[in-house]
Amino acid sequence: MNIIIAIDGYSSCGKSTFTKAIAAKLGYTFIDTGAMYRAATLYAMRHHLINADGSVKKEELSAALPLVNIKLVRSAQSGENSVLLNGEDVTEEIRLAGVSDNVSRVSELAPVRELMVAQQRAMGQDKAIVMDGRDIGTVVFPHAELKIFMTASPEIRAQRRYKELVAKGVETSLSEVERNIRQRDAIDENRAVSPLRKADDAVLLDNSYMSIDEQVEWALKLITSTQL
Ligand code: C5P
Repeated sequence: MNIIIAIDGYSSCGKSTFTKAIAAKLGYTFIDTGAMYRAATLYAMRHHLINADGSVKKEELSAALPLVNIKLVRSAQSGENSVLLNGEDVTEEIRLAGVSDNVSRVSELAPVRELMVAQQRAMGQDKAIVMDGRDIGTVVFPHAELKIFMTASPEIRAQRRYKELVAKGVETSLSEVERNIRQRDAIDENRAVSPLRKADDAVLLDNSYMSIDEQVEWALKLITSTQL
């Protein structure tokens, strides 16, 4: 039986790595919804819809949303998803610090969320999907067969993210990465629309001291028991 697996949690918990690994084991589609909010943020930045103080020009961005076309395209060769913004591949650009600094402000806006949630629900129509984000188990798929809420200590999350960025050749510092993670978590948890929170029926996974293989093994046991 195909199911929907909803994965939520804090920034830089390794949600996407975990999501991808589970999807590969099950032969399911994986969707990183953060990439969609990041692409919308890049659009807003390019069109000068973010003020110098980081606030968003809400009316202008809301009016522009019909012009924002975001697609996740899976490469059969690498198995990775590419993110297309109005046809342009922005997979790398949406990971840069400027986008990370602005994304939580853009994600607070109800019209942005409505657009993303509608697209995400459409992607889950046939089930057989693992989707990660902040509101997947609470809003996008409240009836998902399995919900996992991921967390890890902020210091460990910052170290992981820092290593990842350095490996990509991005110039940053550990303290800057940790500042961004803490700031995003605070905005994500406290926003009025769809705040980040664990769904009551989600299973908690603290992966501070777990390897990816251990996490996947843990998840597969859970999936087996869910499907029994
Ligand atoms: O997952 P990632 O860290 O790339 O997500 C970037 C940001 O997008 C989050 O900090 C959050 O503000 C927003 N987001 C969201 N809802 C989702 C996924 C991401 O608000 N479902």
